[in-house]
Amino acid sequence: MSNPSLLILAGDGIGPEVMAEVQRIIGWFGDKRGLNFDVSEDLVGGAAYDAHGVPLHDDTMAKAQEVDAVLLGAVGGPKYDVLDFSVKPERGLLRLRKEMDLFANLRPAQCFDALAEFSSLKKDIVSGLDIMIVRELTSGSYFGEPRGIFTENNERVGINTQRYTESEIDRVARAAFELARKRNKKLCSMEKANVMESGILWRDVVTEVHADYQDVELSHMYADNGAMQLVRAPKQFDVILTDNLFGDLLSDCAAMLTGSLGMLPSASLGAPMENGRPKALYEPVHGSAPDIAGQGKANPSACILSFAMALRYSFDQGGEADRLEAAVEKVLADGVRTADLMQADGGTPVSTSEMGSAIIAALDASL
Ligand code: NAD
Repeated sequence: MSNPSLLILAGDGIGPEVMAEVQRIIGWFGDKRGLNFDVSEDLVGGAAYDAHGVPLHDDTMAKAQEVDAVLLGAVGGPKYDVLDFSVKPERGLLRLRKEMDLFANLRPAQCFDALAEFSSLKKDIVSGLDIMIVRELTSGSYFGEPRGIFTENNERVGINTQRYTESEIDRVARAAFELARKRNKKLCSMEKANVMESGILWRDVVTEVHADYQDVELSHMYADNGAMQLVRAPKQFDVILTDNLFGDLLSDCAAMLTGSLGMLPSASLGAPMENGRPKALYEPVHGSAPDIAGQGKANPSACILSFAMALRYSFDQGGEADRLEAAVEKVLADGVRTADLMQADGGTPVSTSEMGSAIIAALDASL
């Protein structure tokens, strides 16, 4: 059988720096665990614009559709701010998400004990936190028509439309229930059914889908209460399912419970391909960090943990994903810190590659 395939799109700024560490980790799994991937690399974002005049070449798009998973670093940077909207680096990422139809965005919010002091909340509220937000990514207010700025009665009107079809809700709900099944079997669905018709439909469809997942405990919550509960008592949640707009806000809010942008991975999943694997794009939550790019200061953990998600959700290697996450946790527990994780009272930060080496040493120690 051929090896599973991975397309690496390192992108701009710190993207290539953190991805270099992921490449070392991928190499480790090949050498030490016999887990080999057919890895190809290509350009996205500003790097693709510099080479081809577009933020994602058609050939790269075609490759992304064929591989088992795409791993992306980050896109963007001040050099590209002046570009026309249609060729801005972010358009490359949006094209990937749209054409791969990645409708389920998975954002874990996990608090490593060693970093609990970075949270703005009290340690006992976040310590041991492990929740997953599933955000619908391809519909809702960010895509609904009509949209635009129009003139009515001699004044401008800005319009966006919150629109969801049953099938759009059904498929993302199923993705969330499947995930809950593999975790603690608790799913909380968040909408605003009290004031929005799309919320009423959302609640109805999620309840209908629940009939196929009776082993998962389902609850519903208004999204505004969800935001309050996330900062009051986040450990009450396991999987949270929500729409595109609320998910944008709630996932950022949950992310900050855990402290640093340099630690946050994500996955965006679509429909199953012929081989049963979902279409998938894995990427850190952070951007290209132009303020530290090229200085060896970036924390590679978010990108490495995104690869751990790929092991779990694309390659059915949950045990190896656990191993990699445990290695990152051990390194943090040992006090190894990149600059973004330093407390004001000092210590010496390690570089991007030193962090990668420490994680590889922890992987070696796990054998
Ligand atoms: P950013 O995430 O790049 O950086 C925000 C802050 O966090 C910066 O101070 C940065 O140094 C720090 N930071 C981020 N990742 C880090 C890491 N791994 N290690 C250490 N520190 C880290 O967000 P921004 O500054 O708002 O945006 C910069 C560029 O990135 C912009 O062009 C923006 O459009 C783009 N961007 C891209 C993505 C993406 O590719 N998915 C996401 C967000 C922003």
